[in-house]
Amino acid sequence: MAGKKTLIEDLIDALTCLPGVGKKTAQRMTYHLLQRARDDALNLSDVLKQVVKNITNCKLCRNLSQEEICDLCSDDSRSKDMLCIVESPADVFNIENSTNYNGIYFVLLGKLSPLDGIGPKEIGLDELESKINSGGIKELILAVNYTVESDVTAHVISELALKNSVKVTRLAQGVPVGGELEYLDQYTLSKAFDKRTIY
Ligand code: ZN
Repeated sequence: MAGKKTLIEDLIDALTCLPGVGKKTAQRMTYHLLQRARDDALNLSDVLKQVVKNITNCKLCRNLSQEEICDLCSDDSRSKDMLCIVESPADVFNIENSTNYNGIYFVLLGKLSPLDGIGPKEIGLDELESKINSGGIKELILAVNYTVESDVTAHVISELALKNSVKVTRLAQGVPVGGELEYLDQYTLSKAFDKRTIY
């Protein structure tokens, strides 16, 4: 007979809200926290509460931020004429850590997906359009994913930019570093072939 849920079961259920965490993993985490890491568990719950309370979205770029305007947008040394469009704050983090890009960003917080109820408004296209309309942007870099939905999103955004005579670029597609042609899927290989560059 299923009775009232215990606190332990509540925690297991709560942990499954995390991506990649199923019931089994959530169970392991729960017993680990309770048996061996009670202080860590308390700290985790404090930090979680603080983060949720204090982290908001930057008013200019929609990236996660502790302030109304994020550090990147308020950094005067960054070029404001290059605008990089990404789908998630994690993408900003990765680009900042792996490239020399020194422009600004706009974070869509998703991609167009009508079936899931995600339209232009949800990904901030109004804000993006007025940013583009206000001038000063020379290049818009589409650093969105290469999936069907992201391709549609990229297309819609590129039209907004081209209407305003802003140059639009998109991240190159091709063979990953360390990749072996034999193991590439056909789509990646054919794109890489089409987009080959001068050696
Ligand atoms: Zn910002």
